[in-house]
Amino acid sequence: MAMHLQNHIDGRWVDSVSGETFENTDPANGEMIATVTKSTTADVDKAVEAARRAYDAWRLMPAPKRGEILYRAGEIMLARKEDLAREMTREMGKVVAEARGDVQEGIDMTYYIAGEGRRQFGDVVPAELPNKWAMSMRHPHGVVAAITPWNFPFAIPTWKLMPALICGNTLVFKPASYTPLLAVRLVQILEEAGLPKGVLNLVLGPGGDLGDHIVTHPGVDLISFTGSSDTGAHIGELAGKLLKRVSCELGGKNAIVVMDDANVDLAIDGIVWSAFGTSGQRCTAASRVITHRGVASEVIEKIVGRAKRMRMGHGLEPTTDLGPVVSKSALEKVASYIPIAEKEGATVAAGGKIAREGALAKGFFHEPTVLTDVKPNMRVAQEEIFGPVTAVIESTNLDEAIKILNSTKYGLSCSLYTSNVNNAFRFMRDAECGLVYLNAGTIGAEIQLPFGGMKATGNGHREAGRAALEVYSEWKSIYVDYSGKLQRAQMDTPPP
Ligand code: NDP
Repeated sequence: MAMHLQNHIDGRWVDSVSGETFENTDPANGEMIATVTKSTTADVDKAVEAARRAYDAWRLMPAPKRGEILYRAGEIMLARKEDLAREMTREMGKVVAEARGDVQEGIDMTYYIAGEGRRQFGDVVPAELPNKWAMSMRHPHGVVAAITPWNFPFAIPTWKLMPALICGNTLVFKPASYTPLLAVRLVQILEEAGLPKGVLNLVLGPGGDLGDHIVTHPGVDLISFTGSSDTGAHIGELAGKLLKRVSCELGGKNAIVVMDDANVDLAIDGIVWSAFGTSGQRCTAASRVITHRGVASEVIEKIVGRAKRMRMGHGLEPTTDLGPVVSKSALEKVASYIPIAEKEGATVAAGGKIAREGALAKGFFHEPTVLTDVKPNMRVAQEEIFGPVTAVIESTNLDEAIKILNSTKYGLSCSLYTSNVNNAFRFMRDAECGLVYLNAGTIGAEIQLPFGGMKATGNGHREAGRAALEVYSEWKSIYVDYSGKLQRAQMDTPPP
């Protein structure tokens, strides 16, 4: 029997005031997983009010104690890793080995940020006046709204929730409508780990209907959003008018550059993994391959061969290499790019079709697709397709390859395959991307370094690593004058 998923507001699992529901289904076969309560703006109000009420007690709880709750949450996640991974595969389609990786990333982030409970370093610096103390400390924002996508339904919420919590904020969490189950599981885990009521409130429902209300709500101080560039730009516009803090992690048009001195077989492994992992639905997916002309025919032949051999199927089947995309509309969007590519002069060298044979017809499967004869300015080389499609572009040297790499509006991830150390360092310096890989694909970030992109991939913030704390706290500079008299900075400084 299908589960029923509810909101979590002020420590209680409750249905929306609307009484309406929507369905959560398996994108590989259409099977029903759960009915989901469909929230209204009135539910958002309740969630924000609960978060506001819980804020003072939570921010005043010593940060190391907040960290202990996170450590306990990490332990529970570890114990449930396999169940979480299998539920994720059913809910959004990625193959189970990748789903395990998604959960593990959430565990890594939770443990890492728990440690920040005993760090969150500020500066103590010398004051210019005698008997004066100067230091800085972090201060939480208040109530954070976390709006997350479906493609990393466990990891991405932990990137937002954990640093927000450790800094002393309370939360309203609005996950993607395709992945409410993993959001419920994460909230359950934090509740079991001892999070006080009201600190984390979950609102399930359509972002298009609830989004503006969440973003403009006077009780929400910071919006942390990961998703499409269009939605991010809309949120940024609304929040900007209200001078609210907003952190956006958006799309990408990532590329792998292969030089003629590269180990081509190694590059092919990286390309196949980066282009088709999670059916190309990673913000860091390699949707472009920029290959040196000297190795282009070998690169193309090998990627095409590998793409043609990939087996599509349910992500829980051990034989599956490629799962479905998340929805019918995602499938249609991916398929719509094939005629666009052909019209602009590209060649479909592998795949190119929606899979309709046998059991695949019940799900949203698109063949792994390789486009060749692609020019850098074509739409398939510029726009995010977010599916198992990669476009191969040829170049004559590294300078040209870097120019092509940097020619899109995005700047998330890139990689270079080369055996030449000079090429490697020039590429590291000149790539306009937040993530740069050498002799590895475009995916595989670790949580202890900043994650995010340049240009239209975001608005300048980074998640993960120490950088995460910058988003979820403000700096407060504190001066203590213990001289017992008026001392005027920049005026009463003793002469040298
Ligand atoms: P969307 O922008 O459609 O959705 C993301 C989230 O925003 C969902 O929770 C969605 O809710 C919600 N939402 C939708 N409309 C609004 C609105 N008007 N106001 C506020 N919230 C809204 O993106 P997708 O879910 O389709 O995710 C895929 C995109 O995300 C890709 O472009 C990808 O590149 C990007 N992405 C970027 C990452 C990065 O770190 N740079 C990481 C992962 C993905 P609902 O589901 O209910 O519509």
